[in-house]
Amino acid sequence: MNQILKFVDVELYYDHVYALKGVSLEVNEGETVALIGANGAGKSSILRAITGLRKIRSGEIHYGGKRIDGAAPDEIVKMGIAMVPEGRRVFPYMTVRDNLLMGAFTRTGKSEIAASLEMVLGRFPRLKERYTQAAGTMSGGEQQMLVIGRALMAKPRLLLLDEPSLGVAPKLVQDIARSIVAINRDEKVSVLLVEQNSRMALRISQRAYALTTGSVALSGNSAELLTDDRVKRLYLGGE
Ligand code: ATP
Repeated sequence: MNQILKFVDVELYYDHVYALKGVSLEVNEGETVALIGANGAGKSSILRAITGLRKIRSGEIHYGGKRIDGAAPDEIVKMGIAMVPEGRRVFPYMTVRDNLLMGAFTRTGKSEIAASLEMVLGRFPRLKERYTQAAGTMSGGEQQMLVIGRALMAKPRLLLLDEPSLGVAPKLVQDIARSIVAINRDEKVSVLLVEQNSRMALRISQRAYALTTGSVALSGNSAELLTDDRVKRLYLGGE
């Protein structure tokens, strides 16, 4: 299988405090891979390292067979990596339409951009209903759909999702989970999903890595991890 993303022994520090300590992981082409773990385990730091927002201290990050650690964030976006940050950062006073178009800023072909817009609105009918509404007036779940849609407007090969279920009503969490599965399946986008909702993340991913204080504690097939006693105890609230 072709690897789209690979971490080799990555260390990342904030000043003198480590956040990632020798992390190695892979995302294969076409996969959805979940990163689970408690608050502060290092999940977001992995995403910051990929997007170049934070420099790594040592190790290597490869994307599509090329070293990308050291590349600037804008170069990384142009390579086809789109990030949906935690906290649904929409442009609140802009319409849904304009928020979506902002996501296509690296692209030029007008008809291709129009096709992506059509695709996103087809996937998220709520965004179509609220097309001319100011983004800030929508619910948390709808704003989450908007930031995912905005990331898709860049036509990424790899989509990074940071806590898409956070602050979203349970009913919409299911909708968002289904959308992630459909996007991965239909749009040929590999997905790296960071979630504290470990159960949801394990259900919709093929493989997962569980992090504890900056290191990979467990990894494997998500369906198997869902029934693993250690995972149940440490990451699924003991159920
Ligand atoms: P969360 O779900 O809270 O985002 P996380 O698993 O994504 O948790 P990280 O945000 O990657 O964890 O944080 C890993 C460690 O690095 C934590 O100990 C955190 O306190 C620390 N850390 C994160 N960001 C910074 C920063 N900007 N400055 C200093 N320390 C930081």
